[in-house]
Amino acid sequence: MAHPSIDAVVIGAGIIGTSTALALTQKGFRVLVIDALPGAGQGATSSSLAMIRTQYSTREGTALAWEGYHCWKDWPGFLGLPSDEPVAPFHLAGVLTFKTPNNGYLEHPLQFSEALGIPYESWSAKKLRATFPSWDFSSFGPPVISDDPDFGTTSDQPLEAVFFPCGGYCPDPQFAARNLQRAAESRGAQFRFNVSVSEIYQAHNRISGVRLSSGETIDCRIVVNAAGPYSQAVIAMAGLSDRQNILTRVVRHQTVHINCPDAKTADASRIMLYDTDVGSYIRDDTGTHILLGSLGAKGEKEDAADPTRFDRNLSPEAIEPLYRLAQRIPSIGIPNTLAGVADLWDVSDDWIPVYDQTDLGGFYLAIGTSGNQFKTAPAVGALMAALIQACEDGVDHDADPVQYTLPYTGHAINLGFFSRNREPNPASSLSVLG
Ligand SMILES: Cc1cc2nc3c(=O)[nH]c(=O)nc-3n(C[C@H](O)[C@H](O)[C@H](O)COP(=O)(O)OP(=O)(O)OC[C@H]3O[C@@H](n4cnc5c(N)ncnc54)[C@H](O)[C@@H]3O)c2cc1C
Repeated sequence: MAHPSIDAVVIGAGIIGTSTALALTQKGFRVLVIDALPGAGQGATSSSLAMIRTQYSTREGTALAWEGYHCWKDWPGFLGLPSDEPVAPFHLAGVLTFKTPNNGYLEHPLQFSEALGIPYESWSAKKLRATFPSWDFSSFGPPVISDDPDFGTTSDQPLEAVFFPCGGYCPDPQFAARNLQRAAESRGAQFRFNVSVSEIYQAHNRISGVRLSSGETIDCRIVVNAAGPYSQAVIAMAGLSDRQNILTRVVRHQTVHINCPDAKTADASRIMLYDTDVGSYIRDDTGTHILLGSLGAKGEKEDAADPTRFDRNLSPEAIEPLYRLAQRIPSIGIPNTLAGVADLWDVSDDWIPVYDQTDLGGFYLAIGTSGNQFKTAPAVGALMAALIQACEDGVDHDADPVQYTLPYTGHAINLGFFSRNREPNPASSLSVLG
């Protein structure tokens, strides 16, 4: 059955695909979103810790994260759904982090924060002790795995802390994707679940349609690849494998759920920790439980995965960021059995996403989200829609990159920054920090 009334098929109803669908419908495109899973946000998005922070190693990454923060803060307004429609909560929580060699002592993130008007504070040792009385603020870095001889050693270097008061997290990321689905549907977008895109059709070097696993054919002139960890398989369907400079790979990432009453601040305000000194990050979960994961450590191996058959159980390595965090929070305790999730990151060569057109007319990429693009997703949808509209209107984005102004914060970004054909960005942290 053909669907002649569709302009754009979005492959993937994760947080990126649903956001792109909403923004495309707002621009008047007729959109169909296809997802192999039973509902929106059930892929990698469902396992996200969904932490929204603004310290990134490039100006563009920082600006996009800052825009994302404003979208999440205004989530009901951003969605524009009827007031009786339930929406995912967003909890405000500042971010505590440290000036360490592995983040360049935050020199660039702080410069970008100042330039973009993002507030931050230096916290003294006294302030740290008052906020977290039971924590050990020795300097343990650089982060190493637990059987490294340097594990647990401290240096005399005082730990310099920086606090970013503007941040937060969405405790139900799957629900947030469903909100975006509902908002897109209310403007006319259609969603199909439990069916995958199996072929991409083209004619005269332009998209002409897709074939579904059900055997149906959909005519369309635009396809957006928002397939997350499956993004390379979708690129292959379009016959474009290895036709871009920046590639993506799939990496398994584990997060641990554990009780830790001492992660609370003395005044019970919410704070997220990006501890670049021990290489672990945490945020609150329900009650006195926290969620934690690794920011990377010497000796930690990247866990390459096949998205069609990866292990969702925690492996023994999941305990490593907990061991490291136990240096900072000695009372945390190490249980015999860990609870948590393992899911996938779609990681680009330089850990910066690819938001771009391709060599095939009408085929667009919103991929390589590298474990750090939940926060930006509402802003990414709007960015993708602006890019797609410009390219469909005849702009040669490769030759003359689209300049885009972020609607909430008013900052401008040259979208060539996210090009598939860029050289790997030397400013990147080459880590989940972006
Ligand atoms: C454990 C973990 C923790 C994270 N923590 C954070 C964080 O704290 N802060 C942050 O900003 N980011 C975080 N991230 C990253 C963020 O969650 C991801 O960047 C984001 O969710 C990716 O969304 P997506 O829509 O690209 O991918 P997905 O959510 O994976 O969606 C892709 C969808 O495409 C569908 N699909 C694929 N191929 C096809 C096909 N051929 N046909 C039909 N459907 C298809 C899949 O079924 C899937 O639903 C984390 C990620 C993980 C895994």
